[in-house]
Amino acid sequence: MIAALTDAGAFLTGHFQLNSGRHSDRYLEKFNMLQWPRYTELVCRKMAEAGRTYSPQTIAGPTTGGIVLAYEIGRQLGLRGIFCERAPEGGRTFQRDFRLQPGERVMVVDDVMTSGESVFDTIGAVQKAGGVVTSVAVMVDRSGGKVTFDVPSFAATEVEMQTWAADECPLCKQGVALKIT
Ligand SMILES: [Zn+2]
Repeated sequence: MIAALTDAGAFLTGHFQLNSGRHSDRYLEKFNMLQWPRYTELVCRKMAEAGRTYSPQTIAGPTTGGIVLAYEIGRQLGLRGIFCERAPEGGRTFQRDFRLQPGERVMVVDDVMTSGESVFDTIGAVQKAGGVVTSVAVMVDRSGGKVTFDVPSFAATEVEMQTWAADECPLCKQGVALKIT
């Protein structure tokens, strides 16, 4: 799995400002991998196997990477893959006429988990639509094991990346050009 990310050139090195505002000398560009069906198929196979045990009826993920993952895992399990999108009031909702039956069993998937926010948003969207989350599977866990769920969860791989607060960043001190991700 790490090999797939490396082969696809998903690990970028340089000087990055992450979504959190912290700085890092590495960045994981998941779409360098997700643009390739052959890599995506491989990682989704691991995620699909982990979720299959809990008999999901539908696979759901958040925009944007979650669209690709939900679709491919759905394809492998013979199920549909749907996605939720940012809601104006915060969190995420299912749009585009995606519906769940009451009690429908849903496997939630996501790409890179750092704070877990988009996974929790997707769980919330499933519950709001009347479904039941049976398990969670992420492609990469960057949380350092800090994020946990009330349902069984699986990570295809775990990656640790060093980050610094902006005012403690050694790359800033060296004057290396910063890229906002
Ligand atoms: Zn910096």
